[in-house]
Amino acid sequence: MSANSEWYEKDYYSILGVDKSASEKDIRNAYRKLAKAYHPDAHPGSEEKFKELSSAYEVLGDAKRRSEYDSFKDQSPFMPRTGGGGGGSEPGFNFKVEDLGDVFGGLFNKGRRNPTAGPQRGSDVDTSLSITFIESIEGLTTSVNVIGEAQCRTCHGTGAAPGSSPVVCARCQGSGSVNENQGFFSFSQPCPACGGRGLRVDLPCNSCQGTGTVPSNRKLNVRIPAGVEDGQRIRLKQKGGPGRNGGPSGDLYITIKVGADPRFSRRGNDLVTTSKISFPQATLGTDIVVPTLRSSVKLRVPAGTKSGQVLRAKGYGVAPSGRRITPGDLLVTIEIVIPKNLSDEQRKLVEELARILPKEV
Ligand SMILES: [Zn+2]
Ligand SMILES: [Zn+2]
Repeated sequence: MSANSEWYEKDYYSILGVDKSASEKDIRNAYRKLAKAYHPDAHPGSEEKFKELSSAYEVLGDAKRRSEYDSFKDQSPFMPRTGGGGGGSEPGFNFKVEDLGDVFGGLFNKGRRNPTAGPQRGSDVDTSLSITFIESIEGLTTSVNVIGEAQCRTCHGTGAAPGSSPVVCARCQGSGSVNENQGFFSFSQPCPACGGRGLRVDLPCNSCQGTGTVPSNRKLNVRIPAGVEDGQRIRLKQKGGPGRNGGPSGDLYITIKVGADPRFSRRGNDLVTTSKISFPQATLGTDIVVPTLRSSVKLRVPAGTKSGQVLRAKGYGVAPSGRRITPGDLLVTIEIVIPKNLSDEQRKLVEELARILPKEV
């Protein structure tokens, strides 16, 4: 696993059991404690866990790498969804901590206001972007069309017609929720009178029919990092649907679709291509010029190369954005072309060669 894909997948903070705002000292202490508890010398079988701790500390314990990791996580391309069959495990990014808060807030209502009445986070918006193979390797800045909702300009999101303003709901006194006592527990429900907003609009805004939002089609500039793969999702924080009552916007998720390339395919960070040579070239050895993404590279084919053999041009593969990752290589599969239509002279020479070459099985 490359460092890059590990960054996608692992939450180093939760591995070390520390907060995102933890100080260097907190992180060091947490690591020392855990490393002791899981040291494989003392606790056989805990090698994996120990390794995980070490790689988390390698990053979080180093101020520079930690800040790289933080900004990476803030706008990180996600691992591609496991295609098709999907074992039912939704990737973690659909999980929102706020949702849990709402569940518990509703269940164990201790005078907590219904969250829908306070600032409300906007919805997450999904979109997709098709890019070429070269663009996926090199990264690009482009614009995406985002179809979603925007705050209504007429009423500035209040839902009330100009000149009027929403009034506090009399039923729930603006809390957005009503309590229902059932024996020991007090259950809270969204207020039926105001739909949980805590506010009531008597004169709905004409532009948005009182909803406070209107459909919108926005163009957004996005930077797609070098090395993205087909199916990866990129999150742009707070570029999704608008929040309500002063809440933050949701996030925008862009699913990247990468087009095919006639010359190259990709295996991890390596680029893969094929090069054809003749039988004499393979036998005697030769230099070939192989196209790279933007130019070409000269490779030595050693004498006696077999068809299917792979030559490696080091460093001519994919170099993902901004991370300390060694770029991949260009892998060139050699294909030896056997001629079909020989001239008389060629045929004579091959026959001659066949006569004097040892017959191999
Ligand atoms: Zn109400
Ligand atoms: Zn409006």
